Amino acid sequence: MAFVYSIPMRTRFRGITVREGVLLEGDRGWGEFCAFPDYSDAECAPWLACAVEAASAGWPEPVRDRVPVNCTVPVVDPQRAHALVAASGCATAKVKVADPGVPLRADLERVAAVRDALGPSGAIRVDANAAWDVDTAVAAIRELERAAGGLEYVEQPCPTLDELAAVRRRVDVRVAADESIRRAEDPLRVAVAGAADVAVIKVAPLGGVRRALRVAEACGLPCVVSSAVETSVGMAAGLALAGALPELDFACGLGTLSLLDGDVTSASLRPVDGFLPVPRQPPTPDRMAEFAADRETTARWLDRLRRVEGR
Ligand SMILES: [Mg+2]
Repeated sequence: MAFVYSIPMRTRFRGITVREGVLLEGDRGWGEFCAFPDYSDAECAPWLACAVEAASAGWPEPVRDRVPVNCTVPVVDPQRAHALVAASGCATAKVKVADPGVPLRADLERVAAVRDALGPSGAIRVDANAAWDVDTAVAAIRELERAAGGLEYVEQPCPTLDELAAVRRRVDVRVAADESIRRAEDPLRVAVAGAADVAVIKVAPLGGVRRALRVAEACGLPCVVSSAVETSVGMAAGLALAGALPELDFACGLGTLSLLDGDVTSASLRPVDGFLPVPRQPPTPDRMAEFAADRETTARWLDRLRRVEGR
């Protein structure tokens, strides 16, 4: 069975204010297909493979039963940043920096407030979403590291692999690749190019848990598993990956359910004290009526599903 959901977002993300997708039921439970609206049918194929794996094949045995997650600090004032981190219970915070039109000074004040909330033992990572050129990145990273009292890593400071490699040679802070890794072959290129110390991997664009595990092994970099802002049904696949990775050195970016104004299951995967459980199978969507998409949205997604299946 296929069910199309539509859930309002609390925070605008990738220009989206409503998250939509299809839940698919198979012998092993449910999977979620929720490729972003601007993705081509070809780009959607691994997302569907990830959903089908969850519904029909299930996942490999995990080696841990819970994973640490980071809290996310958007571009907000220092007081709000402090409150967000303190309320999260997480020992790791990911702070958004380098937003267009926001001066570096505001980013410095935000990371300082986050350090104050986390205490000296907490970890702070910053995400620039490819906003800087090399020289700007090097200068900004040095200042941010000072203001934060140490950075765990800086995520995607610049757009290209060459630029990431250049930044990496000039700063002591680890560099993580995120936007540079969207297809199964990309992590290998990142590692070969010497462009990053850490790979941010997402289970859906890589085609499922088994495929992502092979990619993680082949690239040889420490991996941070991150979400694509799924419901708990899709999030469970990311947790299955984080649960099955032989090594997990960093907190994962899977605490994103709070971005959605609701969930399709009452067994919601919300972090408690900075951790999420690794489920053996995806949760059952028992709150479907609440978030059933309208007829037009349902038709659009079922059509997309048929096109991607038929490729
Ligand atoms: Mg990122």
